[in-house]
Amino acid sequence: MKHTITLIPGDGIGPEISDAMRLVVEATGVDIEWDVQEAGADVMDKYKTPLPEGVLDSIRRNKVAIKGPITTPVGKGFRSVNVALRKKLDLYACLRPCFSMEGVKSRFSGIDLVIVRENTEDLYAGIERMINDDRAESIKLITRGASRRIAKFAFEYARTEGRKKVTAVHKANIMKCSDGLFLESVGQEAAEYPDIEFDDRIVDNMCMQLVQKPENYDVLVLPNLYGDVISDLCAGLIGGLGIAPGANIGDELAVFEPTHGSAPSYAGLNKVNPTALILSSVLMLKHINEGEASDRVLAAVKAVIKAGKQVTYDLGGSATTSEMAEAIASKIT
Ligand code: NAD
Repeated sequence: MKHTITLIPGDGIGPEISDAMRLVVEATGVDIEWDVQEAGADVMDKYKTPLPEGVLDSIRRNKVAIKGPITTPVGKGFRSVNVALRKKLDLYACLRPCFSMEGVKSRFSGIDLVIVRENTEDLYAGIERMINDDRAESIKLITRGASRRIAKFAFEYARTEGRKKVTAVHKANIMKCSDGLFLESVGQEAAEYPDIEFDDRIVDNMCMQLVQKPENYDVLVLPNLYGDVISDLCAGLIGGLGIAPGANIGDELAVFEPTHGSAPSYAGLNKVNPTALILSSVLMLKHINEGEASDRVLAAVKAVIKAGKQVTYDLGGSATTSEMAEAIASKIT
């Protein structure tokens, strides 16, 4: 079956890791037509917006997209294209599996966690204003609907993937209304899944627990901002951002992207690790019912990383982005 998939290379290191991902996915023989769409800082002059409407139309048409990272200026300039995509397309669930791989040097081993981050509200919605030159406020919006919806996603994921436990992460001791509502909503949804264990942790304690006893946790469900922060923490547990994949999923549409950003200082150097985007394509292939190809890409990534010879600098090697991708592609059987 032929699949048409929107490909957004993004900016910074995005284009080079996108080429690497394409090479690997094409080696599986799955019939994919890439509908390449430009977005990000580099297209501002051309389209007068970092997120041209054509990009959204393409994703709505094709239902599935994979993207490289897109830069968001700090403190000024345009708002995040990544956040806008998630909100405009109602990609409410951010899924980030974090698992240890043999051959990756890390302080931890045997990590097997899944982050399920709410993607549409919380402080991350950017509802904020300057009250005057010296005061600013941000609104933390949490709704029962979005909280129940993300909780349902987490429990359904746990059930489908044979996972045992879902942990809700919050700060409901301090933010009794907003995080209190999130926790209450997840608890209500948990009651529908008696086969899955449910517990909760306060976010600061969760950070400590994750570095002391990560083996006690399985699927974590979090509001947007805690999800953002803890995703990077968990990427650190498994050996860094270069190997942490992700997906943004809604009821109709899905956009796959790595956890990491555009790493502008590495752009164009053919140096960074393409694995996070390649592992995002593993999730994408599974999503489009190409499970067998998905397994083959995952096996090839694991084989190259375990051998440790053709890996990028962050994994202790000296291979370029494209050399590592070629090594992975050549291992696809
Ligand atoms: P970053 O993730 O881009 O990079 C932080 C550091 O992590 C890099 O300096 C590098 O040392 C390492 N790293 C990241 N990706 C790597 C890879 N593939 N291989 C090896 N090492 C890698 O984070 P940042 O510097 O905080 O953000 C840069 C820009 O990216 C910002 O504009 C930010 O808003 C944006 N961003 C975009 C997304 C997205 O597109 N979804 C996500 C996060 C950040």
